[in-house]
Amino acid sequence: MNLSTGKKLFLSHFLAIVMVSGSIGSYFYQNAINSLLESVQARLKYSAALLSSLVDVSDLDQITSPADKTHESYKKGVAHLRELVATNPDIAFIYVMRRNGPEIRFVLDSDPDTPADPGEVYTVIVPALLEGFSKPSSNRELFTDKWGTFMSGFAPLSGGGGHYIIGIDMRADEVSNKLHELKVTGALSFAFSILLAFLFSHFLSRSLVRRINALHRRCLEVGTSTGAALRREGDELDQLAVTFGDMLTRLQQSQADLERRVEQRTTELSLANQQLNAEMGKCEQIALLLEETARTDFLTKLINRRAMHRFLQNEIARFGRTGGAFSLVLVDIDYFKNINDQFGHDIGDEVLITLSRVFESAVREQDIVSRWGGEEFLILLPATAQADAFEQAERLRQLLDSDALQIERYPHRITASFGVCEFNPEENLEFLLKQADIALYQAKAMGRNQVCIAAQSGE
Ligand code: GH3
Ligand code: MG
Ligand code: MG
Repeated sequence: MNLSTGKKLFLSHFLAIVMVSGSIGSYFYQNAINSLLESVQARLKYSAALLSSLVDVSDLDQITSPADKTHESYKKGVAHLRELVATNPDIAFIYVMRRNGPEIRFVLDSDPDTPADPGEVYTVIVPALLEGFSKPSSNRELFTDKWGTFMSGFAPLSGGGGHYIIGIDMRADEVSNKLHELKVTGALSFAFSILLAFLFSHFLSRSLVRRINALHRRCLEVGTSTGAALRREGDELDQLAVTFGDMLTRLQQSQADLERRVEQRTTELSLANQQLNAEMGKCEQIALLLEETARTDFLTKLINRRAMHRFLQNEIARFGRTGGAFSLVLVDIDYFKNINDQFGHDIGDEVLITLSRVFESAVREQDIVSRWGGEEFLILLPATAQADAFEQAERLRQLLDSDALQIERYPHRITASFGVCEFNPEENLEFLLKQADIALYQAKAMGRNQVCIAAQSGE
């Protein structure tokens, strides 16, 4: 049977509620009936016990057969029983019985219409009746005899020696009316609980199915269906399961697609990164080259004037921090114009290059040689006082003006003039350079191929 989820939920809840409320209801119903019967039995027992002391047993032995109906004690006894019946509207009959061996016979009976005769054997022997000869007892349920259907209570007559009992019959309709009332109440509560179960199950199942359907619709909206979710077999939960499966498949597909794209992008990025690194490497090389070019003289490969200027500034700054003298040597090749003029510009260049190498290799490790101008070189001598600088310059001058220097395409001696000065902390770089220039000018003026020290101000 193909039931919808709503119907399944409704039925399961409905049955569960009905079963639980039915069990609880029947428990209470049974309890109510039992307590009703128990209260009736208790009343019958109690009434029988009460009446047992109100009946006189002294003349009862004489009443044994229908003929004894005329006996005075019979008439008195019956009248007494009828008075007792009249006092209680619930009681139908009161009677007295005697036990002779296994037989139980009537003695007195209050029934005014069809009274049992004295000595008449009573054939409906129930356990409560036998028990009544020894102690108060009552029937556990209704019973029927030729006088009708009753609930009865019994008690041994006081002074009867266990041979006599008094019996009370309560009308069955009294008991059954009360039972009927209980049944109606029980049935009404059961019907009410069924109604409640119906309403509760109905709203609960509707609310759940509504949410399942909403979820189903939402899942279908999430992406394009592969078609599986549109199958109509099964209930809403089956549909939802199919939709979820469908959605999961799509999610797995898109995840795989995403992973593939991420992998592809990662590869592309990695390649781009490699290219970028290569480009950056090139840029760094170019930057280094540019920096090198910016600070190097193209012809001689010595550091240029700009770079030397920076070295000089640094040296002055270092001087400010740590002290210690430093000196400059400004070199200018003598009559260089003539070399150009006589041998050509190329030879002039070659002379400049050769002298640059000579200066570089001849100075100390810490000294810095730069090309300061056309055929001028400026040498920085760190931690060197003026006198030592003079010696260094003189050494260079002699090196040029000797046979040690050979230039292949210029077979003549080359001389240069040298201006030497020491940094004066009271003055600045501009002044220092000016001093070097003055010293060089002096060397030129003194005939060239000289080393001159700048005359300090005031000297
Ligand atoms: P002085 O002894 O007074 O220094 O005379 P000088 O001839 O050396 O000086 P001057 O200033 O008259 O001449 C310098 C020459 O150096 C002029 C210029 O053509 C030349 N010169 C400057 N730079 C270069 C260069 O890079 N290559 C060549 N070959 N010559 C250059
Ligand atoms: Mg010059
Ligand atoms: Mg010159």
